[in-house]
Amino acid sequence: MASMMFTDCSSSTTSRLIHLNRRSGTFLLRQCVGQLRLQTTASGRGCCIRSSSSPISAISADTKSSEGAAIVIDGKAVAKNIRDEITIEVSRMKESIGVIPGLAVILVGDRKDSATYVRNKKKACDSVGIKSFEVCLPEDSSEEEVLKSVSGFNDDPSVHGILVQLPLPSHMDEQNILNAVSIEKDVDGFHPLNIGRLAMRGREPLFVPCTPKGCIELLHRYNIEIKGKRAVVIGRSNIVGMPAALLLQREDATVSIIHSRTKNPEEITREADIIIAAVGQPNMVRGSWIKPGAVIIDVGINPVEDSSAARGYRLVGDICYEEASKVASAITPVPGGVGPMTIAMLLSNTLTSAKRIHNFQ
Ligand code: NAP
Repeated sequence: MASMMFTDCSSSTTSRLIHLNRRSGTFLLRQCVGQLRLQTTASGRGCCIRSSSSPISAISADTKSSEGAAIVIDGKAVAKNIRDEITIEVSRMKESIGVIPGLAVILVGDRKDSATYVRNKKKACDSVGIKSFEVCLPEDSSEEEVLKSVSGFNDDPSVHGILVQLPLPSHMDEQNILNAVSIEKDVDGFHPLNIGRLAMRGREPLFVPCTPKGCIELLHRYNIEIKGKRAVVIGRSNIVGMPAALLLQREDATVSIIHSRTKNPEEITREADIIIAAVGQPNMVRGSWIKPGAVIIDVGINPVEDSSAARGYRLVGDICYEEASKVASAITPVPGGVGPMTIAMLLSNTLTSAKRIHNFQ
């Protein structure tokens, strides 16, 4: 569990229905204007270190508009929309050509968090009509056994996407196993050929990694312009930071990447029109790091101690939400921002794969 050095300064959560249709503003929710009522799920999150948690009012969407504070980018609502679109496409495909998209997940070991992720992915598949396949191998399995499962799914025509749940046990060569996934079924987008194509101009990856793809999709669906903007990505991991930076660059943003050895991260971040934070450090980015009006996508999911929560902890992002939401023009909450988008993008990649394999438009 990540360090628990921050305590909460707020305890209230606002959950209200609003119309996100600001004609005069920058954000017009694409495809949904006038139809979708978005639920704001963000809660005011304190970032200051305090010995007790004194409640302060959460920021509501209405007060945001009137006070000029940030619009909440509601990943939960957008993801639901995307899942509804996928459900329609899955049944259209089934009715037209009798094919049901299939996703296979390989889980090795008994990590509880990994088991939960796999369970959630299965549930998500069920909810949109995608068939799911699962192989669970014990912690002490050999690399060959995992490779055999990968190879079986590579050859199985009812499987259109293969996902190896990470992390793998330390005795396994992760690179070797990910490389074995057929590039045509690499719905996680981690195959070096897919990442290589993502990095090259004029080349198209077959799949883009789900979390960064979800970040960009949120920007698109909120009609946030990327072209010509200055973007900062905090974090350079293979699964989030690096592909997020590549995606922003492909959309003609000018991108800086901040990592653990970067000097003056605040200064660099303050230049950004768009910030994507994928660090794994609770509340690291403070309000003073943010240029007024910047758009913030917070990928971080960090548990912090909270004695008022049933489980004794709650989840916060890498951005200090309470401070940032007063400076930014739009921000994703944690939870309810990028998280739901990751699974939606996995389902989307699986559908795309099935369509491509069966040449279905
Ligand atoms: P990771 O592999 O640990 O990478 C973290 C990155 O942050 C590294 O590039 C690291 O720099 C950089 N970093 C660490 N401390 C830093 C600091 N103090 N200043 C500047 N940079 C720093 O993590 P990850 O897998 O990318 O995940 C990042 C966060 O996103 C985590 O909280 C994770 O739980 C969350 N996440 C969420 C989703 C979702 O669906 N919402 C999906 C994946 C991950 P170096 O490269 O120099 O070490």
